[in-house]
Amino acid sequence: MNVRSEGTGVAVPEADTPDEIFVGGRWTRGRGTLIESVNPADGKVFAQLHGAVVDDVDLAVDAGLRAAAGSGWATWLPHERAAVLHRIGNALEANVDRIGALQTLDTGKTLTETRALARSAAGTFRFMAAALETMEGAMTPARGNFLTLATYEPMGVVGAITPWNSPIASDAQKIAPALAAGNAVVSKPPVWAPWVTLLLARLCEDAGLPTGLLSVLPGPGRTVGEALVAHPQVSKVSFTGGTTTGRHLAHVAADKLMPITLELGGKSPTIVFSDADLDQAVAGVLFGVFSSSGQSCIAGSRIFVHSSIHDEFVDRLVAGARQLHVGPGDDPRTQVGPMVTHSHRDGVAAMVDAAVEQGAQVLCGAGIPDDPALQSGAYYLPTVLTGVDNAATICQEEVFGPVAVVLSFDDEDDLVAQANDTVFGLACGIWTRDFVKGWRAAQAIRAGTVWMNTYKQFSISTPFSGLKDSGIGTEKGRDGIRSYMNQKSIYVDLSGHALPWATPQEES
Ligand code: NAD
Repeated sequence: MNVRSEGTGVAVPEADTPDEIFVGGRWTRGRGTLIESVNPADGKVFAQLHGAVVDDVDLAVDAGLRAAAGSGWATWLPHERAAVLHRIGNALEANVDRIGALQTLDTGKTLTETRALARSAAGTFRFMAAALETMEGAMTPARGNFLTLATYEPMGVVGAITPWNSPIASDAQKIAPALAAGNAVVSKPPVWAPWVTLLLARLCEDAGLPTGLLSVLPGPGRTVGEALVAHPQVSKVSFTGGTTTGRHLAHVAADKLMPITLELGGKSPTIVFSDADLDQAVAGVLFGVFSSSGQSCIAGSRIFVHSSIHDEFVDRLVAGARQLHVGPGDDPRTQVGPMVTHSHRDGVAAMVDAAVEQGAQVLCGAGIPDDPALQSGAYYLPTVLTGVDNAATICQEEVFGPVAVVLSFDDEDDLVAQANDTVFGLACGIWTRDFVKGWRAAQAIRAGTVWMNTYKQFSISTPFSGLKDSGIGTEKGRDGIRSYMNQKSIYVDLSGHALPWATPQEES
């Protein structure tokens, strides 16, 4: 165990980070690469973990199959499975501060956000427990003397691959419905943020989840992650991450004809119409693009502003961006924490530099803070750019950092064409007092989620999906459980007669 949290102000009990991974119900020192977890607020290593190796995928899948068969998890009555999920939800709720502190240390996110993510994970387990108890099959209208039933069954072992930006929430979004559906789960958390998934596994164990039903294998995506997707006995994978990785995994899944859910990247438009409430719009746009330091798939990073209010809106946006408090995630004043790693921060800076070379003007940010106390952290100032059109690289590629580009529009049709002129289709924000206009735009935008006069608000009961290069399939909502089940139809004869085709006919 190697824990150092001095100077961060975040109290993390040592026991939260033992150097162990969770393979098939056993806590064990990993045999893979040494993962050094660095606090991005100060650049110091706070924990070390030996990751998983490809062999662990076999062990975890075998254990999952045995655990599912041995415990009969899939045949537990719905309220019995739901009771375990409720206990996991309660354990998450009871550990909000612990999870929040660990995730802030690992990712740099503000404590406000990481605690909210932990609470939302608790809500996800509870929602899936409740949804599980209301799951119904159907007796369908028969076209003969049969009973015809549409039923649903678990798939077996499911893989859950998650990114580093909102670990506990992404974990819950996959693990809760997959378990609710009666499956075993092998989770592959990201190397940059493995700790909260391991903590979740401990909470699941304490809550009475049958041993072996869940494994957590932190390790490199290209070896451990890919072995999980390719494993012949993994029946479904749910992946959240970058579009390039997702596209590759879609090929791996296609080879074995396995369903895969892909929640991928975005470059979401935010539209400010001339009649918008500017106080509401400025606050919402700032939150939409700069919260989580812009490291959010749904960041509203292309901001289309009607030309009649463009200058006023931009002045207010830039003033607001300059006022955002940049600092460590455990400082209650902080609105923009450090980026997840120094290398990721440098990648974001390089994209901004390239945009400037291609003609973008910097209205604010585009550098690291002057504050001497922040020099060793992975900070980048909230940045607003202008002076480019929607075809520019900075408007077409996902930055995954605190970078907004402001564009202007006059005509609604042209606006819709520009907003849709992207390979992505994840989210959109619309700011207007005119409901009909907002509704029209919401219908015209090709995106999985549209927010009107708000942004980045979520409910586990509402489905989430991406179009185009933003993904395939849907998570959350009541049907979230169904996406981890196979549908089966059953026909039962009610006539008691042999089928006439095969019955010898008497000669007349
Ligand atoms: P990433 O694609 O690099 O990694 C995501 C996960 O996949 C990690 O666990 C990684 O180890 C694993 N992985 C990488 N290569 C793999 C391979 N060949 N086989 C199997 N697994 C592999 O993404 P990231 O940098 O961790 O996350 C940022 C990306 O995630 C952004 O593009 C963001 O938009 C996207 N994201 C999307 C959503 C959504 O719901 N649509 C939510 C959050 C993040």
